Amino acid sequence: MNDDYYELLGVSKDATTEEIKKAYRKLARSLHPDVNPDPEAAEKFKKVSQAYETLSHEDKRRQYDMGGGPGMGGAGFGGFGGAGGFDMGDIFDMFAGAAGMGGRGRGQGPIPRRRRGGDVLRRATIDLRDVVFGSEQKVSYRTAVLCERCDGSCSEPGTSPTRCTACNGSGHVQRVAQSLLGQMVTMAPCPTCEGHGDVIESPCTACSGHGRISQQREVTVRIPSGVETGTRIQLRGEGEVGEAGGPAGDLFVELSVNDHETFARSGDDLVTTLAVPMTSAALGATIPLETFDGVQQVEIRAGSQPGEEFVLKGLGVTPLRRERRGDIRVVLDVDVPSSLTDEQRDLLEQFAALRGDEADRPSPRVHGPFAKLRERLRDL
Ligand SMILES: [Zn+2]
Ligand SMILES: [Zn+2]
Repeated sequence: MNDDYYELLGVSKDATTEEIKKAYRKLARSLHPDVNPDPEAAEKFKKVSQAYETLSHEDKRRQYDMGGGPGMGGAGFGGFGGAGGFDMGDIFDMFAGAAGMGGRGRGQGPIPRRRRGGDVLRRATIDLRDVVFGSEQKVSYRTAVLCERCDGSCSEPGTSPTRCTACNGSGHVQRVAQSLLGQMVTMAPCPTCEGHGDVIESPCTACSGHGRISQQREVTVRIPSGVETGTRIQLRGEGEVGEAGGPAGDLFVELSVNDHETFARSGDDLVTTLAVPMTSAALGATIPLETFDGVQQVEIRAGSQPGEEFVLKGLGVTPLRRERRGDIRVVLDVDVPSSLTDEQRDLLEQFAALRGDEADRPSPRVHGPFAKLRERLRDL
């Protein structure tokens, strides 16, 4: 499964796009199902085509080189959003379509140069505040944009492609081969024009005849509230422009939410623990809490127990496509002093004596509220 793409194509790691193209074309001529009925050849052809699909695209190749593999770099990316990403059919079209044997209904015409561009996937990191209220993020990425010099025509301004003389503009040629069964005539894509039916005599100098160039872009992405890590936002037509100025693919922005120092998200609610001194829990207190809506007062009533929950209504996350916000839930934790001065110890001993909690007659509760608190913290 993990074939090395460079090995498959028989090129070195620093091969130019032109060399990769050449190597692929050579392999395809001997492996393509139209010329080689051997099922093993068909299998190899698929692999080789996949390798070519990745290595012939600058972006995908870079991602592959960086160890992203075909899964992320190109191929696997087509799994959502429709027509984008890797389409085996495109490769077959290049060879089979022109010969009219692809069975994909293209017929016998030449292959258009224009193709839809690939999708682009970028990640963006946002804060919990962005999840609560929604936000706008700038995302910058390198992608293929329309070549302005030739406006996607691939030819130098003032020139235009000329009809291919080898195939007379049809994009395909007949091949006659002798076989055991007699003479076999097959159609093959014209090697001179690669099946396009015309030849670009003067390729545009800005884009080397591709009709698109690689450029850094920046877009502003509107992030709705209620998103979470892994949410993908699709921006139609903001992906890479296709070969020969073909329609652009889509941009997908995959979000990752930073951890927040106070709050964790639980559904539409924000949850935090508040540690108060044991005296505050016993006597009651008002504790200020910094929320996304400013400082709020949490009222701890006298006699509150560890693990008890205080709710601040409507200060949580607004769920996707809904109006009503979740709540903030404050789980109470109680700080027991870990060291005491002599005076404090005296007072506490008096207090214990008053309550009848003498040291030699404690009344521990093994499955008391601390176990409940631990459970709650674990559930977050
Ligand atoms: Zn150009
Ligand atoms: Zn031709």
